[in-house]
Amino acid sequence: MTDSHRIAAADALQRAEKLCLKKGAKLTDLRRRALTALAVAGRPVKAYDLLPALGDETSPAKPATAYRALEFLEQLGLVHKVAGINAFVLCAHGGGSHVTCLYVCEDCGSAEERVEHAQPGADAPSGFEVERSVVEHYGRCAACAA
Ligand SMILES: [Zn+2]
Ligand SMILES: [Zn+2]
Repeated sequence: MTDSHRIAAADALQRAEKLCLKKGAKLTDLRRRALTALAVAGRPVKAYDLLPALGDETSPAKPATAYRALEFLEQLGLVHKVAGINAFVLCAHGGGSHVTCLYVCEDCGSAEERVEHAQPGADAPSGFEVERSVVEHYGRCAACAA
C-alpha cells in the first residue's frame, strides 16, 4: 500500500463514519473492508475480485455478502458502480449526493471521476427527486492514447 492509498483509505473511512452517523447506519467491518480495498486499488474493481479482501483469514467473502456491502456504500455515494464493466470504484469526492461523471479507460482500466455541476435531470418527471446519477464515458486515457 502506498502512502497516497493509505491516506485515501483513512479519508474514505472517516467520511463514511460521518455519513453513517448522519443516516443512522452502521459501518460494519465488512463495509470498512470494502471501502479500504477500493481505496487501495485506486481504480474500478469487479466485485468478484474483492471477495478475498472482504473475507476473513480463513475464507473469502460470499458474493451476496460482498454485493450487499458494496450496494450500501453505493447508496451513500461513497463508492460508484461502473455498470458498463460491472465494477465498483471509490468516490473521489467523499460521497454524498452528486452527479458523477466517470471517464473509464478501456485499455488500462483506470477511471477518473469528475463531478457534474449542472442540475441533474432538468427534464426529469415532475416531482421526481434525483438522489444520485452516474454518467459513464468510455475511451482511452491520456497515457494510453499517447
Ligand atoms: Zn463521486
Ligand atoms: Zn488508460
